[in-house]
Amino acid sequence: MTRGGRIKISDLLKSKETGKKIVVKGWVRTKRGNKNIQFIALNDGSTIHNIQLVVDVPNFDESTLKLITTGACLKAEGTLVESAGSGQPVEVLVDNITIYGTADPEKCPLQKKGHSLEFLREIAHLRPRTNTFGSVLRIRHAMAFAIHNYFNDNGFKYLHTPIVTGSDCEGAGEMFVVTTLDMNNPPRKEDGTIDYSEDFFGKQCNLTVSGQLEGELCAMALSEIYTFGPTFRAENSNTPRHLAEFWMIEPEMAFYEIEDNMDLAEDFIKYLVKYALDNCIDDLEFLQKMYDETLIERLKSVIECDFIRLEYTEGIEILKNSGVKFEFPVSWGLDLQSEHERYLVEKHFKKPVILTNYPKEIKAFYMKQNDDGKTVRAMDVLFPKIGEIIGGSQREESYDKLISRIEEMGIPEKDVWWYLDTRRFGTAPHSGFGLGFERLLLFVTGMANIRDVIPFPRTPKNAEF
Ligand code: ATP
Ligand code: MN
Repeated sequence: MTRGGRIKISDLLKSKETGKKIVVKGWVRTKRGNKNIQFIALNDGSTIHNIQLVVDVPNFDESTLKLITTGACLKAEGTLVESAGSGQPVEVLVDNITIYGTADPEKCPLQKKGHSLEFLREIAHLRPRTNTFGSVLRIRHAMAFAIHNYFNDNGFKYLHTPIVTGSDCEGAGEMFVVTTLDMNNPPRKEDGTIDYSEDFFGKQCNLTVSGQLEGELCAMALSEIYTFGPTFRAENSNTPRHLAEFWMIEPEMAFYEIEDNMDLAEDFIKYLVKYALDNCIDDLEFLQKMYDETLIERLKSVIECDFIRLEYTEGIEILKNSGVKFEFPVSWGLDLQSEHERYLVEKHFKKPVILTNYPKEIKAFYMKQNDDGKTVRAMDVLFPKIGEIIGGSQREESYDKLISRIEEMGIPEKDVWWYLDTRRFGTAPHSGFGLGFERLLLFVTGMANIRDVIPFPRTPKNAEF
C-alpha cells in the first residue's frame, strides 16, 4: 500500500519494477551535475540509503532547479530505471518536480557536511535529518519494538507504572518535584519548610526514578510483568552516560531466584543485540564506518559468549591485584566506578560480566539479604564501553527482614506500608532488574555520548527543544 501519495525509498530501492511510473517524496541530501544533467540524492528517513533522481536539465525550469538545495523538501514524479552508475540498484528519471519547502543554503545549517556531534546537539531540532541521527533513531525504534516482542513472546505483561509518584523512597537518586504551588509564595509550615499538604496531591510528589516498586506489586498478581517508560533523575552528573530523563525497561518476576534473573537478563540482551544485527545492518554498517570500526564485531561477540558471573568480593580482589592505578579507590565496601567496571569487562575478562552479592550498605533496602549478614543478592550487568547497563536483584520477600532493614536505614514505615503489604499477604520469592534504554543504545550504536542516542536529551542546563 502506498500512503502519503508516494512510495517509500526503502521499498523503492528493493523494487524490481523498472519501467514503472512512481512518486517519491523526501529531503535533498546533495545535488551535483552540470548544465545538461543533474543528480539529486533524496532521503525520506525510511532507510540510510538515498534514491538518486536523474534530472535532464533542459526539460526543467531553471528557477525551479535552483531551489533544489541540501535540506529542501520535494516531490518527484518519474520512471524507475536500473541505475547506470554503481552504488545503487535503481534510480528515477524525473518528469516533474514539486518543491514543498526550500532551504536557503546561506542559512540552513544542514548545508555544510561534517558537523561535529557537539554542534549537532545545539541543532537538535534539525539533526534527525542527518545520516547519523537517521540511523540512531531507526535503531532506537527497532530496539523498542524488539523489547516488546521479546516480552510478549515470553508471556510477560506490559505494565504502565505512574510517572508522578508519591513515594520518595525509591532510593535511586535525586528527584524532580511536581507541584502546582505558587513557588514565589508557597504555603509554609511553622518550621518554615514548604507545606505540601496544600499542594495538588495533598503531599509532595515527584517524577519517578523507577517503576520497580509498583512493578513488584503487579508481579505479585500477573507473575511476570515489565515496564518500559520514562524515568527522571535530578543528579547533577554531567557524564557521557547519564541523562536527567531516560527510558528504562524493568521486568519484575514472581518465583525467580537470582540465577533466573541473571539468565533472563543475559538472554534478553542477547536477543536485542541479535535483533539489531538481523534487522538494522545497513545502519550499523554506516555507524561502524563513521564512528566505531569494531562495532559489528563487538555486537557479534556479545551474542556468542557466555557472560562471566562473578561475586563482588572476587571482583574487588581482581581490581586490587590488577596493578592499575585507578582514579577512584578500590576496597571492599565501596561502590564500583565506571573505570573499575570497564577494567573487569574490557581488560580482565574481555566479556560482559554479571557482578553479584554486593555489600548491603551500597545497595537499596529492598534487596534480598544473604545469610552472611553483609551482602545482598544484587546483580549488575557490566558491558564493554558502557560499564553498568543493567542493575537488578532478587527482592527481599521476608516481611521481618525487610522491616528490620527499613528501620536500620531510617525509612519511615508510613511511606512504604503498601509495599510491605505484599510481604504480609501472599509473599513469594521474586526478582527483577532495570535496563537503561539509552545505555543499551550506546552499546548497540557504538555512539560515545548518551546525548546522541535520544532525540531530545535532558541534561543539566539543557532542555531547549
Ligand atoms: P549508575 O551507577 O551508572 O549511575 P545506577 O546504579 O544509579 O547507575 P540504577 O538505579 O541501577 O542505576 O538504574 C538501572 C539502570 O538504569 C542502570 O543500570 C542504567 O542502565 C540506567 N541508568 C541509571 N541512571 C541513568 C541515567 N542518569 N541516565 C541514563 N541511564 C541511567
Ligand atoms: Mn545500579
